Amino acid sequence: MTTDPFDLSADALWGPDNLPYGVASADGHDTHVVTRLGDHVIDLAALATLDGYRKWARAWSNPSLNSFIAQGRSSWTSARDWLQQIIRDEKRRDEVRSTMHSLDKVTLHLPVEVADYVDFYASEQHATNVGRIFRPDGDALTPNWKHLPIGYHGRAGTVVVGGTDIVRPVGQRKAPQDAEPVFGPSVRLDIEAEVGFVVGGETELGSRVGVDEAADHLFGVALFNDWSARDIQAWEYVPLGPFLGKSFASSLSPWVTPMAALEAAKTALPAQDPKPLDYLLGDDLFGLDLALEVQINDTVVSRPPYKGMYWSPTQMLAHLTVNGASLRDGDLFASGTVSGDEPGERGSLLELAWSGREPITLDDGTQRSFLEDGDVVTITATAPAVGGGRIALGEVRGKVLPSR
Ligand code: CA
Repeated sequence: MTTDPFDLSADALWGPDNLPYGVASADGHDTHVVTRLGDHVIDLAALATLDGYRKWARAWSNPSLNSFIAQGRSSWTSARDWLQQIIRDEKRRDEVRSTMHSLDKVTLHLPVEVADYVDFYASEQHATNVGRIFRPDGDALTPNWKHLPIGYHGRAGTVVVGGTDIVRPVGQRKAPQDAEPVFGPSVRLDIEAEVGFVVGGETELGSRVGVDEAADHLFGVALFNDWSARDIQAWEYVPLGPFLGKSFASSLSPWVTPMAALEAAKTALPAQDPKPLDYLLGDDLFGLDLALEVQINDTVVSRPPYKGMYWSPTQMLAHLTVNGASLRDGDLFASGTVSGDEPGERGSLLELAWSGREPITLDDGTQRSFLEDGDVVTITATAPAVGGGRIALGEVRGKVLPSR
């Protein structure tokens, strides 16, 4: 190592107030749960072993976070307290250094073995924009939108770690003016900049998780790109919702930020009017002040703010389980596309280029209504840190490959 991993500037985005969880492998080492400090990863299985914490060492020796997530909230809290303490203890730096690898020498893997995956639709601005595009003569929001967090179950098995290439999907599409459907590569491949919530603490079938119990199950946050083939989606989605237009791949950032690292990012929700039903009410309702940035190739195309999202993550989890559906360790739910009030805050190309009517121009002079082969999409975010300053969330990146 050429630089001291502890030599962090005061405004470091990956300092001791952050400490996200990921899964990494280094040459000659097993794949373990790690955290990140600056430009280094810390092998948490090695560090816990060194300090005699066998329960955590066992969980962190796995190639996913699931075993640790299964230990529950009290373990998440005490592990983070221990980790922050040992990292801040100057006398123990050599021990911590002995468990470190340079970030550029490791491979990051999908951090969670995703159990079930649900995608919500919690941005009023996004839902309104999509409503205006697809139903210009009707109400922008559907009648249910302010009464429940709308969602659908997606495909857990095709959630991939950020950095994975995305093959352009093929399928059926039929434009409204066409008489018959055609088959071929999607010509309207899009992104959806979202925030994913990783869930743990199994529940019994038939039981439900209330708003004020949700914190016991919310493990952390990861950025999420819900790649969407708009042409396949438009032809297939009535009446049962998204299917092959979404299920070909969804990208999850390699770092999961613990909820405890986001305490200072909690904000009040927008006013909810009409008042939701009782099961969606409680004391623990919050938004998150996450500042997202969406880049296509070298151009920042959007800066969606998460803090205006209509539904609290606790409401989304309460709704997801209100029918008695049980939770599993490693469940994942995503917020839905994050879009703000301003044109430069929209989280999808569908909205940014208004369904192809207003193409955006990249810094190299080329225009985009939807993604082209070779495009690289990168979503990043920062949030206020508990100790002042800011922390970064893990970026989620993907390159579009031609269809096969
Ligand atoms: Ca979505």
